Parts: sequence; C-alpha cells; structure tokens
Amino acid sequence: MTDNSALPPYPPPLSEAQLDELKTHAVDWALAHGLVVRAPTSSGASPAESAVPAVTHAPVALFPSPFPRKLFEQALVLQPLFNELVDNVARDHEFLTEVMDSLAKVDDFTGRLYDIYKRVHEEGISQSISLGLHRSDYLLHVPADAPNTEPVLQQVELNTIASSFSSLSHLTHDLHRFLAKRTGFFNDASLPSPDITLDALPENTSIRSIAKGIGKAWELYEVPTAVAVMIVQPGERNAFDQRWIEYKLFEEYNVPLLRLSLAEMLQQCKLNGTGKRLMRGNTEIAVVYYRAGYAPTDFPSQKEWDARLLIERSKAIKCPNIAHHLVGTKKVQQILAKSGLVERFIFDKKKAEALRASFTGLYELDDTPAGHAAAKMALENPGRFVMKPQREGGGNNIYGDDIPGHLSAMSVTERNAYILMDMIRPPQLINIMVRHGALIKGEVVSELGIYGLWLSDKGVVHLNENGGHLLRTKAANSNEGGVAAGFAVLDSPLLI
Ligand code: ADP
Ligand code: MG
Ligand code: MG
Repeated sequence: MTDNSALPPYPPPLSEAQLDELKTHAVDWALAHGLVVRAPTSSGASPAESAVPAVTHAPVALFPSPFPRKLFEQALVLQPLFNELVDNVARDHEFLTEVMDSLAKVDDFTGRLYDIYKRVHEEGISQSISLGLHRSDYLLHVPADAPNTEPVLQQVELNTIASSFSSLSHLTHDLHRFLAKRTGFFNDASLPSPDITLDALPENTSIRSIAKGIGKAWELYEVPTAVAVMIVQPGERNAFDQRWIEYKLFEEYNVPLLRLSLAEMLQQCKLNGTGKRLMRGNTEIAVVYYRAGYAPTDFPSQKEWDARLLIERSKAIKCPNIAHHLVGTKKVQQILAKSGLVERFIFDKKKAEALRASFTGLYELDDTPAGHAAAKMALENPGRFVMKPQREGGGNNIYGDDIPGHLSAMSVTERNAYILMDMIRPPQLINIMVRHGALIKGEVVSELGIYGLWLSDKGVVHLNENGGHLLRTKAANSNEGGVAAGFAVLDSPLLI
C-alpha cells in the first residue's frame, strides 16, 4: 500500500469506554436486525434447554475495512464474465468429461457427483434452464519482494454452490452505516483519507440478489402454484442468512420456500410420471436451491446420494445443476488458468484478458512433466504456495511449510486430487473484530466476494449480473478465511 503516515489513524484511536459503547451498539443492533446465527448448543444442555431457541450476533468487524475502490470496481466488472465462463464450461460435455474422468479416479466425492452428471447426461437433461448463484472470492496481492507496489486483485476461488452470507453481508453494511452515524466515533476526520466520506460504504444489493435469482427462475418455470426448496444441513447455525432469502422471496415474488434436508427430500418427494415433475404431495417444486450437498459430510448415507440424483433427474430448476457444481471444483479453476483455455470459452479477447488478469499461478500436481515440476517447486519453496483438495466450506487447505510433509507422504496418484496455487499476500490493516461479545484487536486481512446471478435457457440469457458483495476479515496470521468455519468475521468495504 502507499505510505499512510500523513493520514489520520484508522481505525480511530478510541478509549476503552468508547470502544465498549461501540461494541454494545454493534451487538444490540445485530440482535435487533437479524444479523444473527443460532447460538452453539452447550454440551451439557438438557433436551428441554436445547429446545429453547437461542441466537447470538454474527461475528463482525467493528469498523469497515479500507479497500481500494479501483479494485473493488474491477471485481464487479469481472462478475458477469465469470458467470458466462461458468455456463460455457458447464455446457461443454467433452471438456467436463475429460477433466472429470481423471479426477474421479483420485477423488471419490467428486467421482460420485460425476456419476450423477453422467447418468443424467445419458438419460437426457429434463430442464434446460440454468440458474447460477455464484460468488467469486478475491484477495489483494502485494509481492513479498516489492512491498511498496500497488496491490492487485487475485481470485481465490469461484463458488458455484451454496455461496453464503449474502444476507448477513448486507446487514453488516447497514450496521456500519448505523454505527458511523449514531456514535460519531468514526467521523469523516478519522477516515483513512481526508477526502473520504461515509459515501465510501458502497450500496450492497446482496440481501435481495439470491431471492431475485430464485424468483426469476420460478417465473420461467411457469407453474403458479409451485414452490421453491432450499436444501439445508440438519442443525444449520447460519439459518438466518438463509431465512432472509426465504422472506425476500416471499415478499417480492410471493413464492413460498421450504427447507428440506437431503434425507427429507428423499423421504417426502418423488418424480411425477414421465414429466419428471418434482412433487411433494400435490405441491410441485419449481426451484431447488442448495445450501448443503457440497461436502462429503452432507452425504452420510446412500439416502442423500439418492436425493441428489432424484433432484438432478427432475424437471425442477436446480441451483446449481450438476454441471455448474462440477465447474466450481478447484481442478477446473486450475485447468482454466492454462494457456488458451479461457479463450476456448470466452471468445472476446478483451474479456478473456480481463479474467486472466485476476488469476494467480495455478499448477497441476499430476503425473505429467508439468505436475512433477510443480511438486518439485513446492518442495523447494513451500512458503510460496497453498495446496488445495477438491473441497468446499473452509479448513481443507495445506499451507506453506506443511506442504512438503503432505506431498512426500502421497503417491503421485494421490497428489492428482490436489492443485497447487501461489500464495496470495494481502496487505495488512488494523481492525477490531467482535466475536461472542468480545473485542479482538489486531492485524487483519480481508477477502472480497462478489455474488453473481446467472439465469439462462437454451442460449437465451435472462440474467447475468453481479449480485452485491461480501467482505470477510480475519486475523492476518490465520491462513483460512471462513466465517462459518470460525476463522473470519463479516465486514464491509470502505472504498479508498
Ligand atoms: P473453500 O472452498 O474451502 O472456501 P478456498 O479456496 O476459498 O476454499 O480457501 C479457503 C481460504 O484459504 C480462503 O478463504 C483464503 O483465506 C485462504 N486461501 C485460499 N487460497 C489462498 C491463496 N492462494 N493464497 C492465500 N490464501 C488462500
Ligand atoms: Mg469454496
Ligand atoms: Mg472459499
């Protein structure tokens, strides 16, 4: 970052008493406005005690974190291009088959998803409408050997399934606005640049965007009595982020949304005759939106796999369909970074270049000369890399110095289930995080997510836009960034 020494200190230096007042405002505003998660159940609680509904505030940053406006805008511009890329890749059967044939051999979970893909491909796809509600995540990068250069935007990953926090992210923006106005503790004079005002907190459409995608898909389905289903994990703590989608969908599109686990889906729903309409009793399901089904733990038995197949075979619009789901794997991300691959799917040279500019180094770890060279590079210089399996939800990656031990213990075949990625090094800032009612001050880094809305039918694109943003902030010394996984807090960008 540039030299900030001439600027006012940020966050503003408040007294203990002021910080405490700010925290009380933050926590109570969060509780009053549904910026909440279910409280963890204590292990000693009786069944009667556990049945009492209990919530706690979502973990949040006390102050919005400064973020370069130019790079924020760059991420917004990229989103429709990524949406288009995902759909074009998902419709390329030859490409997906080639990638997944080899990945399925080394990764059971992806292999089982791919079995579903193959099954419906053979049988014939019963729904041509694709609904994508993605989130592309970025870190800013400053090279370790050139700390004074301007940061650049680098993509961490692109999520095509269960992209969470669109509702709570929006509420965090509202919280920061409220705190700024109500307390005056971070007035304009204390913002990181003299010409910055609170208008630097950008509008966020994210609380409406997922509902918009589901609502517009429901309209295309053209069955006025049909409902939407959200596939949820049993015991989900992040239930209110999801409930806000349900409420917005009902308020704005008059569409009821049911929450079902995969096991409940199998138990309660079936296909109706040759039309393959997905029915729950007499109620038809128009859209199935997954907030579960991305991790092996979501499939404890064959029942859940049967439910996933049932949905995929049906006429319901799935978000994501199995092809979009597979395009979200880290392996596809790595392959798309190879020379000429983005260009295979995005013909416009400028668009392809813009996408590429957000990629960091991505390498295969397979049994090819390139794979061996990447493994050698990681063993010699592990601090420069992150190793990633085909998993979602946080907590799965292997970082820096942990890489050699893992790599050496793996056969070359096993390595193929992972990809290698350059370590992105975001600039560090100071902020204060509020978690379980306590303040944690320290050096932090932020990860920006941009939601993407895509809705298409046989080459006709009905929706292709960005759907608002998410900023997650974590302690600078923590590798991972998930909020639900307990590493990060919800934040909002203060554009500088
Ligand atoms: P998941 O699908 O489990 O969320 P990610 O690829 O997003 O997997 O990795 C989880 C977290 O690990 C990210 O939120 C980020 O904080 C960190 N991370 C991932 N890739 C990199 C990278 N290349 N450089 C630095 N940090 C990374
Ligand atoms: Mg992910
Ligand atoms: Mg992630």
